[in-house]
Amino acid sequence: MTVGIIRSSLKEVDSKVPELLELIKYKPKKKKVFIKPNIVDAINAKSGVVVPPQLVDALIEYLINKNISINDIVVAEGTGFFNEEKHFKRLIKESGYIKLEKKYGIEIENLENTERITKTWEYGEIELPKYIETHEYINIPVMKTHSQATVTLAMKNQKGLLLLKDKQKFHRTNAYGNLHDSILELAKVAIPDLIITSAIFAIEGHGPTLNPQSKTKKLDLLLAGTDLIEIDNVCCNIMGFDVNEIKHIPKVEFSTVGIPLDEIKTKFKGPDPYMKVQNVYVHSSDGVCTQCSMAISRMFRKILFVEEIREKFEKLNKNYNRIDLIFGSDFTELPEHAIPGQTFCFGVCTTNLAKEKDIPYVKECPPHYNDMIKLILSVVEE
Ligand code: SF4
Repeated sequence: MTVGIIRSSLKEVDSKVPELLELIKYKPKKKKVFIKPNIVDAINAKSGVVVPPQLVDALIEYLINKNISINDIVVAEGTGFFNEEKHFKRLIKESGYIKLEKKYGIEIENLENTERITKTWEYGEIELPKYIETHEYINIPVMKTHSQATVTLAMKNQKGLLLLKDKQKFHRTNAYGNLHDSILELAKVAIPDLIITSAIFAIEGHGPTLNPQSKTKKLDLLLAGTDLIEIDNVCCNIMGFDVNEIKHIPKVEFSTVGIPLDEIKTKFKGPDPYMKVQNVYVHSSDGVCTQCSMAISRMFRKILFVEEIREKFEKLNKNYNRIDLIFGSDFTELPEHAIPGQTFCFGVCTTNLAKEKDIPYVKECPPHYNDMIKLILSVVEE
């Protein structure tokens, strides 16, 4: 197996996708195709957060040219935060995927609602989309850093195949293995026929979404391969991470064709140990699932971009030298230095801690970022 690497800007994807697949001598084996792009947030692809719909469009054109009917092509994603149908529709609209729906007369499917098969895996049984068996399965991640997994690439993108209940279990200690082992074990039962990694735009820092501690990195690269672990190894190499330090990716030998690695190796800034915005400390760990992580990112985006809220946030930071926000199931005690009255809990996972320590909290799962903002700013509105 080998990994193909080419340069491609967003404007060039139409011609570059066929070139890339030619480079690795890819030929679809089945007549039906399931494309699973990473569409984790309702945001434009130039952010680096989601796979550009233009890339999926170019792939669909390629498949149609290989005599695969558009009626036999499924594009589907499953994201915890946009799980409900009304939110999923917003995700498809704001990420630009609605253009594919209009162009091809297809509907981007919400994987939460697709038919499932039960697979035996390391931790018993797990339900996965039937498409991974009935269809040619094409996994399309974006090259990004991740606050808990250090990187999110092809292996991590497969978490989107899971039902919401299993996505959450991946983050809960004692449910399956830990997050890293669970991602690795998933790669043994969900095996794509093709992986195309988008590094046209990427994310570095405290990914996988945009927040005050992450930023977009433009690389204008596309990679393709047929082995999850091999292509993730190549990506870590390009990003400047030692794969031995990425807990869910085993180190393997790899070979590449196309642009030599030495020409494109770079240094991605890794995630920070924790998020801190001015005097606000965010405590989250492996026990925090993507839905709470997304709520945190969206909360800070709203705080920074809505003037009236930003002004109150500035006042909060002027009046208090420390505010602590706690997420996830890992905390049984308040974090060191956290001050009662200036500490808040978020999500059902923090219920016990909040009740025991009498900490104000938003109990919903996931907590809505508007409720989170309201609770935090209540300190300066009293
Ligand atoms: S409260 Fe947050 S971390 Fe816990 S399961 Fe719900 S969304 Fe996930």
